[in-house]
Amino acid sequence: MLLIDTHSHLDHPRFDDDRAQVLSRAVSAGVAVQVIPGIKRVWWPSIHSLCHSHPDLYPAYGLHPLFLSDHREGDIEQLKQWLQNKRAVAVGECGLDFFIENPERERQRQLFEAQLALAADYRLPVIIHARKSVEEVTGILRNHPQVRGVLHSYSGSKQQAQRLIDMGFMLGFGGPVTYSRATRLHRLVSDLPLQALLLESDAPDQPDAGHQGGRNEPAFLGAVLQTIARLRGISYEQLAETTSDNARQLFNIPPHSSAPR
Ligand code: ZN
Repeated sequence: MLLIDTHSHLDHPRFDDDRAQVLSRAVSAGVAVQVIPGIKRVWWPSIHSLCHSHPDLYPAYGLHPLFLSDHREGDIEQLKQWLQNKRAVAVGECGLDFFIENPERERQRQLFEAQLALAADYRLPVIIHARKSVEEVTGILRNHPQVRGVLHSYSGSKQQAQRLIDMGFMLGFGGPVTYSRATRLHRLVSDLPLQALLLESDAPDQPDAGHQGGRNEPAFLGAVLQTIARLRGISYEQLAETTSDNARQLFNIPPHSSAPR
């Protein structure tokens, strides 16, 4: 049984001391493949070298809406250069975060639209961060009908989810779904079509209920799998296989050739 972590920030400085062990724990736990989304330009080179030395780690490059103050004039042009010259499976993480105070909506929106345009140009899916902004994100996506992707750590309504799925998007679910009080999320992951679901850790953030308050890591993804499989009344194997197929299809990741270690 092989899992794909579709949203792991393994390049994050919080893994600097033990990244190799974190990676080998993930592999031992069956998390064979990870997609590493970019957050800001100065961190892209670490993602590149990390993914270059580990063929089962797949890079995405983007400018995260929560790091507006880090993004510079010219970063979009740089992103274009990177997408042109480096292997990438997606553009992202990009999107809108209206949860924060003084969210600078217009600047976020411009940055998001620019990245959607690049995704269309380079025929890549997008990894979208949408917090308190699913309506706005959906509206913007309607202006880019050729773009596909995932809304990671999805927390909108079922109706909003269905609209996104109809537009060809997938939805990522992680640690928050394992909390017993997360009844709204439980209903969502039970009701949505399997073909639209992706598993993600969002490590080092959003740990599952068993690791509450600690650093999250991709090796814990099994807890998310188990929760969703139980809620849907299907086997772990079936959910693992379907969500891994979904991820391979969206990010164009080749079938795993090497036997599990
Ligand atoms: Zn993220």
